[in-house]
Amino acid sequence: MSPLIHFMASWLVAVATTENPRDRRLITIAGVIPDIDGFGMIADVVKSIATGEPTTFFYYQRYHHYLGHGWPAAIVFTLAFACLARQRWRTALLCLAMFHLHLLCDFIASRGPTPGDIWPILYGEPVSRHPVWMWKGQWQLDGWQNRIIAVLLVFAVLGVTARRGISCLEVFSRRLDAGFVRVIQKWYSAFRPGPKPQENTRPQDQI
Ligand SMILES: [Zn+2]
Repeated sequence: MSPLIHFMASWLVAVATTENPRDRRLITIAGVIPDIDGFGMIADVVKSIATGEPTTFFYYQRYHHYLGHGWPAAIVFTLAFACLARQRWRTALLCLAMFHLHLLCDFIASRGPTPGDIWPILYGEPVSRHPVWMWKGQWQLDGWQNRIIAVLLVFAVLGVTARRGISCLEVFSRRLDAGFVRVIQKWYSAFRPGPKPQENTRPQDQI
């Protein structure tokens, strides 16, 4: 699935399970971090610009789903995030869960444009070539199923933003988050008269 879907899904889980913003941020990032191995695309583009040759996406094809989508990366990231967390054991377990939710989503819905263009989960890479998991019925990456899920997640994220006074932008910036929450709660109040939604309580939150 797309990084945006992974991001929204893991943030919603983080919000449902975790009170403090720092651990929510770590859990959310854990749900997206496997795709860091797709950054080879940047090297491909830079190389293409530098040489003037057409982009072949060599590094992207070579490393995406190889470096960051297996148990070795899961262990490394979980340990690293646990060290940064306030509630270490709880956050470690949730980070591990979000990492594997990412793998499950990719397993279900990351196919290329043709039916045979299936993305396998190389769970042992880069340490071992085994096990390898793939599903013949894998949904297309930009297929209708993923679009519907993305739309549902957007509504869920906006709903949480309006009711809880926190948004997924808290992962990047508290200031951005506060501004976005104000706008969404204003709209929420305008379209749904009645008791005011919960005010933003983040100033009392621990970082
Ligand atoms: Zn992925």
